[in-house]
Amino acid sequence: MDKLQVAVIGAGVVGLSTAVHIAESIPDCSVTVIAEKFSPYTTSDVAAGILSPHFSRETPVELQKRWFDDTFAHIYSIAQSEEASEIGVQILSGWEIFKETPMEPIPFWSDSVLAFRIMNNAELKRFPQATFGWMYTTLLCECTSYLPWLEKWLKNAGGQFQTGKITNFWELDGKYEIIVNCSGIGARALTGDMNIYPVRGQIQKVHAPWLKHFVRVGDGTSYIYPGISSVTLGGTRQQNNWQMSVDPSDSERIFSRCCALEPSLTRSCKLFEGVGLRPVRAVLRLEKEKLECDGRQMYLVHNYGHGGAGVTFHWGTAKEAAQLVQECAMEIRCQPIHSKSKL
Ligand code: FAD
Repeated sequence: MDKLQVAVIGAGVVGLSTAVHIAESIPDCSVTVIAEKFSPYTTSDVAAGILSPHFSRETPVELQKRWFDDTFAHIYSIAQSEEASEIGVQILSGWEIFKETPMEPIPFWSDSVLAFRIMNNAELKRFPQATFGWMYTTLLCECTSYLPWLEKWLKNAGGQFQTGKITNFWELDGKYEIIVNCSGIGARALTGDMNIYPVRGQIQKVHAPWLKHFVRVGDGTSYIYPGISSVTLGGTRQQNNWQMSVDPSDSERIFSRCCALEPSLTRSCKLFEGVGLRPVRAVLRLEKEKLECDGRQMYLVHNYGHGGAGVTFHWGTAKEAAQLVQECAMEIRCQPIHSKSKL
């Protein structure tokens, strides 16, 4: 039997994890990742990388919980290995604070993270801007190290890589039997899906090795995430803003808001600034589609629209995307020879 040819469009955290799942779970298949940009130039590389499912209200909670639990279990097992810091993974505890008690004082993911509890008054004193808060332990996965590790994994599993921009899925017709679309915000142009839009995020990385706990303001407007070799400060959430250059006024706002949360940051020194476009969609698109044109068929699997939670959900959605690829593969392999040649 010839090997099934699968192309995965996208080399961010969603594309690479999906490609790894396909290569590891589908026998007799050859996976090629095609991307305009690879690490360190993807949105995923800009992400702070905290695993925390602050996602859309429109997405059923049971789906979010399943994707999060799968991802948490995978990253947690890395966190307990000797290679954790090389792979960019660490266990991280901290505080999430609110001006007022949120609508859901206990979030649906409270038993998915570790040691979740409501902050007591003594802890809240530290944050005069808050009246309520959570303390919990979660995981941080820094994509600048994690993506190269996934690339290596995929290479060892026989995967291939190709740099290039795809403007139409039919460009891949005849070469690949299944196309997996993990193009993040690129999906808007590639599929014409106007339900996906950018939410611009700008971050700073600073040297402040004395900080060991994260601080996040509940609405996501400000956060401090200590990582392996730097601390990420954020952020901005600007809808439909495509600007990829660093905005100095955003830089000032980010730094002063973070200093208000953690005054010792005035002693930190700036290492890096970056911008990324969160691929936001009310419900992320994880489904199969069959395209037809001039009597030809193309099998597509979409896995995009992870918004501000791509690192948080990537392993869970990758597993389900690979299952959809498996279903397409079974359909293709069951087809009579004459209709196969049309693919
Ligand atoms: P991307 O990383 O953007 O990858 C898309 C890939 O597709 C790229 O390789 C690109 O080149 C390729 N591509 C696109 N179009 C085409 C095309 N036409 N042809 C070929 N290739 C194409 N998430 C969290 O879970 N935790 C966080 O702490 C967190 N912090 C964030 C902070 C900021 C400032 C930002 C901006 C985002 C943050 N996110 C966070 C969100 C997270 O970064 C995204 O959800 C995630 O990166 C989406 O991954 P992706 O693989 O879908 O997209």
